Amino acid sequence: MSEPRVAMPLDLSLDPQSALPVDFIGGTTAVCDAVLRLRGEALAQELGRLARDLLGSPDGRYVPGPGLVEPGLSPAGVLRCAVTAGIEQFGWYEVSGPASYGDDAQRRLGSLAHLTASLMQMHALAQRSTHAYAQMEAQLAHQSQILDQIHESVLTMDQMGYITSWNRGAEALFGYSALEAIGRNILFLYADEDESVNDSFAEQGGRMMEVRRRKKSGDVFWASLSLSPLRDLADRPTGLIAYLTDITERKRAEEQLHHLAYYDELTGLPNRTLFARLVDQGLTVAQRNDGMGAVLFVDLNRFKRINDTLGRRIGDELLRQAAQRFRDTLREEDVVARLGGDEFAVGLFDFRQHFEATTVAQKLQAALDAPFMIGGHDLRVGASIGISVFPQDGGDAETLLGLADIAMERAKATDADPDRSVAFYSQDMNKGMQERMRIESGLRHALGNGELVLYWQPKFEIASGRIVGAEALVRWIHPQRGIVPPGEFIPLAESSGLIVQVGEWVLEQACAQAAIWQRAGLAPFRLAVNVSAREFTAALPVRVADTLARYGLDPSWLELEITESTLMHDFERVTGIMDRITALGVALSLDDFGTGYSSLSYLKRFPIHTLKIDRSFTTGIPKDASDCAIAGTIISMARQLCLRVIAEGVETLDQLEFLREAGCDEVQGYLYAAPLPAYEFERGLRENWLLVG
Ligand code: C2E
Ligand code: MG
Ligand code: MG
Repeated sequence: MSEPRVAMPLDLSLDPQSALPVDFIGGTTAVCDAVLRLRGEALAQELGRLARDLLGSPDGRYVPGPGLVEPGLSPAGVLRCAVTAGIEQFGWYEVSGPASYGDDAQRRLGSLAHLTASLMQMHALAQRSTHAYAQMEAQLAHQSQILDQIHESVLTMDQMGYITSWNRGAEALFGYSALEAIGRNILFLYADEDESVNDSFAEQGGRMMEVRRRKKSGDVFWASLSLSPLRDLADRPTGLIAYLTDITERKRAEEQLHHLAYYDELTGLPNRTLFARLVDQGLTVAQRNDGMGAVLFVDLNRFKRINDTLGRRIGDELLRQAAQRFRDTLREEDVVARLGGDEFAVGLFDFRQHFEATTVAQKLQAALDAPFMIGGHDLRVGASIGISVFPQDGGDAETLLGLADIAMERAKATDADPDRSVAFYSQDMNKGMQERMRIESGLRHALGNGELVLYWQPKFEIASGRIVGAEALVRWIHPQRGIVPPGEFIPLAESSGLIVQVGEWVLEQACAQAAIWQRAGLAPFRLAVNVSAREFTAALPVRVADTLARYGLDPSWLELEITESTLMHDFERVTGIMDRITALGVALSLDDFGTGYSSLSYLKRFPIHTLKIDRSFTTGIPKDASDCAIAGTIISMARQLCLRVIAEGVETLDQLEFLREAGCDEVQGYLYAAPLPAYEFERGLRENWLLVG
């Protein structure tokens, strides 16, 4: 569209030399009238008439159009004058009649021509811009019609992000009318607060992106957004024009595709491809933390027979349910995938000892123990499991999966009971595992067979030298190996879950012993029982209350030693359990203190009575300066918190002296007595201990 030319100021003032006579005022009006109202021949006729009147000539006419170049060359008796404005010539006047015209006549005709030209120019300009304006309006209406027809939503905004236009597509997409949207800042449509207008973008020009926006209804959707800069006539940026299309459907399709590519349709578990990716990621993290990883290859036993005889529908349902049981058995951070057929894989990360993977394998097998009730059938499947370990066996998911597969085949082939068969790829680990399994089954046997006994180690108050308590320490009297120390079987019992039965047995025995001493008329002293993190559940306070009641035992006879690792779990849950225990009148002490991460402020929040300085610090006293400093700090910290403090593992008088000086309340250690069987402990009670000081 051509721009309307900017109108030049019109010079309507007449040259005084060529001023029209006063009586021509009427004529001037007539010229104006003619130029404004008349066109073509009628205009020429009228102007010719005016020229004749002005000069009193019988002949005179107005000739429209260019052509008269040299007014001076008119023949005698003819007077001509061009009607020009600037470089534009509209036409000319020509009068004749008298033999010749004087200067005066020439001036008059010049003035008329000048007036005519000025009027014509003004009229032309006015018409041209009226026309241009009308054209522009039509074009705008047309454009907004097009914008409204476009299915896409189109909106414009100024440089600050304030919306300046909003088409029907935008109304349909967002649910806001133009009235509601125009004038508001574009940010009100954003779904995520952290998104913001990219300023530099406006200069860069168009680009497509995928964004999330919010509708009036509150629904959030995905849109493809393309922005281009808006500029004014001088090419300065004035804002942005945005085109948005709803791509929620496409996104959903993409997600579906992603799901198809990475998940097993039947069970909803990750497939082999995703498994490999997730395991590789997990291994990277494990490596950073100096942790281990493991891949378990799980193969279902007897599945093929069920599938072949009962049909695919039953087989599929069995796989679905088995997958669900696996998922329920594992922790959130473990990865479980279906590789295909009746094969599954599990990825475990960030554990410290490879036998932890065996425990998981056994749990997976145990998850299949209960029969599957499908279509009226009572179906039983088991699993053979092979394990490969990172970093020892391999560094990536595919390698580990291959080795775990080999281990699984070996397990299935060599084990008497395939449903309990677990094997590591590495032979060394296998040996270790077999050893552990031997201990574990031995321990189960020991529990039922009376091979566990409690030893007792006394605790003394430094100031009075009196015995104030005793710690129950479990021993396994193995028929072949003799006394097995707890360090060899407690961690294993913890990882296999057997610790719960062991713990129940210890609490029972300790209370039975306390009841005997209570009946014998001894003043109460606290019998301390060690409790593992695994035992520290809501069932514990109930069990403690029940056992105390059964033995008719005063609760001041009992104390539970917990470790810092117990406190590291869910705070609300742990304090809830602690509160219920202390409410019974049973004391709590924090064992192995200093080896965990407990801070002062952290400790204040727990209902603990005693801090037990770990033996590793006592050992260095008084030679090791840092051990001394740590022990000293723990003692003064305990005092500030109004907690009692006891040092374990005290073997020398020097240690005792240091602890006494530092303000420690109690001690426990070989200096006084090693853990002793009950009858020896009783002898100590009768003969020695009140004397030590
Ligand atoms: P703990 O609770 O810190 O027990 C203190 C350990 O230090 C005991 O080892 C004890 O025999 C030993 N000890 C005591 N005084 C001295 C000393 O002067 N010098 C030296 N070198 N050692 C001393 P034990 O009996 O082998 O127990 C080891 C750990 O086994 C215990 O550490 C405890 O964590 C666990 N434990 C023992 N019995 C049980 C139990 O019944 N249940 C649970 N959950 N854990 C138990
Ligand atoms: Mg202890
Ligand atoms: Mg300890």
